[in-house]
Amino acid sequence: MAELRLDGVEKRFGPIVAVDGVNLTVPPGTFLCFLGPSGCGKTTLLRLIAGLETPTGGRIDLDGRDVTGLPTHHRNIGMVFQSLALFPHLNVGENIAYGMRVRGLDKAAQARRIDELLDMVQLTGLAERNMAQLSGGQRQRIAIARALALEPSLFLLDEPLSALDAKLRETMQVELRILQQRLGVTTILVTHDQREAMTMSDMVAVMGDGRIQQVGTPLEIYRRPANAFVADFIGTTNMLDGIVDGNEVKIGGARFAVSDLPDELSDGDQVHLSVRPEEVLVTKAGCAPHPPGGRLEGTVAFVRDVGATIETHIDCGAVRLIAAASPKDRPEVRSGDRAMVSLPPDACVVLAK
Ligand code: ATP
Repeated sequence: MAELRLDGVEKRFGPIVAVDGVNLTVPPGTFLCFLGPSGCGKTTLLRLIAGLETPTGGRIDLDGRDVTGLPTHHRNIGMVFQSLALFPHLNVGENIAYGMRVRGLDKAAQARRIDELLDMVQLTGLAERNMAQLSGGQRQRIAIARALALEPSLFLLDEPLSALDAKLRETMQVELRILQQRLGVTTILVTHDQREAMTMSDMVAVMGDGRIQQVGTPLEIYRRPANAFVADFIGTTNMLDGIVDGNEVKIGGARFAVSDLPDELSDGDQVHLSVRPEEVLVTKAGCAPHPPGGRLEGTVAFVRDVGATIETHIDCGAVRLIAAASPKDRPEVRSGDRAMVSLPPDACVVLAK
C-alpha cells in the first residue's frame, strides 16, 4: 500500500493549461475517483501520475519517493485504459504474463501467478484461451489481471468500464471494488460518470478547469459541496440567488435560516443557496401547519412519477424549484395547485458567488 502525493502539479500544452497546480494526498489503500466534465484535465492528471506525460511544474511522490522524473516502468504502477490495450495475437495467459516476462520472472513463477490472477478475476482455467474468444467483460478482467500481475503500489484506471453495457458495467464496478478492497492497493479511477464515482470510491476528487474543486467522501461532496461548480455538477440541485443578512439568506421577500454560513461571508454578500430536491418539502398552500424553515409560495407546474421518486416542479416567481419524494411521502398537490415550499435550515448550503 502506497501513499500518493501531488504538490503543485501543472501541465501546459502550449497555451492550454490542462492541469493547473494540483495538490492532493491519496492515503494508502484508498480508492479515489477523478470526476469531472469532458476536458477538465482528468486523463492528463492520471497520465502525469503514470509517467506518460512530464509535468511542466510541481512534484509527484509515491510511497515517500519523488517519482516526478522517473519513467513509467520504474514507478511500480499498474494501468488499465479504456482501450484495454490487450495483445490480440497472445492468449490470455501470455497477455497476463507480459509484464512478468519483461521483468524476467521464471516460467514456473509466471504460471503460478497467472493461475492466481485468473482465480482472482473469476476466470479460472482460461489461460490457454484465445483473446478473440472472450466477451467484453472477460477482456476487461484480463486487463485488470495483467495490471495487477506485478503487485503495483498504485493502480490507475482510465474509464475502463465505459465500453460495457449498463448491466455489465455495474457488475464490473462491484467486482473491481471488492478486488481493490481485498488487495488494499491504492487506486485512482478516472470517470465522468457520477454514479460510478459515488458508488465505488472512498474519496472523490471533483475536477473543473484543470483544478481539483473539492476532495471528499461521496457523501461530503453531495451534502456539502464546496462551491457552485461542485453543487451543480454532482446530482441535481436547486440553485437560488440570494443575499446574506445576519444568519439568514434573503431571496426576494423571503428569508431562509441556514445552519452553516461560511466565515468569509458577511451581510450584503451575494450568494447561491443550494438545496437538494429530496430536502425540499411541499405542502398545499393554506394547509397549516407548514414544516419549519424558510418558505416560498408558488404554483405547481407539473408532477412527474419516475417510479422510485415523485418529482414536483413548482414555479415560485422567477425560480422553478424541484422537490423529490418517495411514493409513500408523495405531496398532496397536483399540477396548477398553489403550494408552499419549505427549505429546512440544515439542507440549505450557502455558496459564495
Ligand atoms: P475527457 O473526459 O473528454 O477525456 P479529460 O477531463 O480527461 O476529458 P484531458 O484529456 O485531460 O481532459 O484534457 C484536458 C485539456 O488538455 C483539454 O483542453 C485537452 O484538449 C488538452 N489536451 C490534452 N492532451 C493534449 C495534448 N497532447 N496536446 C494539446 N492539448 C491537450
